[in-house]
Amino acid sequence: MCSALTNSSSCNSLTAAAAGNSAESQIRAFKRLSDPLHSLILEYAKGRAPHALMLSGPFGVGKATLARLLCMALLCVSADRPCGDCPGCRRAGDGSHVNLITLRALPGSRTVKVEQARDLTASLAGHPFSAGPRVVVMESVDIFTPAAQNALLKAVEEPDEATFFILTAVQEKAVLPTIRSRCRHVRMPLWPQNMIEEWLIARGVPSPEAPELAALCGGSPGKAMQIRDDEGFWAVRKAAEQSIFAVRDVHGFPAASAILKDQRDRADLLLDYAENAAMRSIDPKVPDNEKTIRARRILEAVLTARKHRASNVSWQAAADEILLSSLEE
Ligand SMILES: [Zn+2]
Repeated sequence: MCSALTNSSSCNSLTAAAAGNSAESQIRAFKRLSDPLHSLILEYAKGRAPHALMLSGPFGVGKATLARLLCMALLCVSADRPCGDCPGCRRAGDGSHVNLITLRALPGSRTVKVEQARDLTASLAGHPFSAGPRVVVMESVDIFTPAAQNALLKAVEEPDEATFFILTAVQEKAVLPTIRSRCRHVRMPLWPQNMIEEWLIARGVPSPEAPELAALCGGSPGKAMQIRDDEGFWAVRKAAEQSIFAVRDVHGFPAASAILKDQRDRADLLLDYAENAAMRSIDPKVPDNEKTIRARRILEAVLTARKHRASNVSWQAAADEILLSSLEE
């Protein structure tokens, strides 16, 4: 097997895992999360899998875990699929199954290049697969170069009956429409806070810390785990809370502006934090209360700030605009 094609061990990512480690507990968690996800697993288990599937959603919501479970459902050799215990499931789970190929960015690379895609198509033609279904997992297909995606189009478009493609993506619009249109598309839902809290506690996060992380992670258990030890996140949180969410009038503006100026290197992280925090402040039941109105103004300002950053407007100017929007009228 060429270096571009690796086993699916990253499918086993802790940060993207569902609410337990066994196949059974993962299926239970996905069922609790969403009926359509559970139906999807059943389709794969009953031999009615679509020939190509794209799972999309933010980082850490369980795309890789679900993809691994679906691989197991296809490659399981027991009657109760996916059992999680048979040789088929175990090898699908650790990526060593001879009928499983995973295409992903090489270590240190932020993309998948056309050469890797060509290696995959050559491998599909020449790889000595054993009998039964074969599965191709394309991880984060949104970071594949357009040339790589184009090179894969024919394989996805005209698979043989025994080949199944499972694609994952964070930014679905970065996937070529020609690829998307060949796939059944499933958007992963965000997790409710109580499920994330339970998930964190099951992984040893102390109970006073778990609710806070669950509230801050934007519905992604993987993100909750990631921010736990991320000093940058906590620095950005402090800065945003002391500036955007604290300033009330023009007198506080210079100090708040200075705080944000210092966060220039973490600007994108700060905008993400401000967006999530503003979303949490919106109470749809009382759309007219002052807190909700202010949160909506901040959300709009964050959107504008992102556009400004894309047009090379200085961070200070973009940050000051957010501050102005957060001032009481
Ligand atoms: Zn099995």
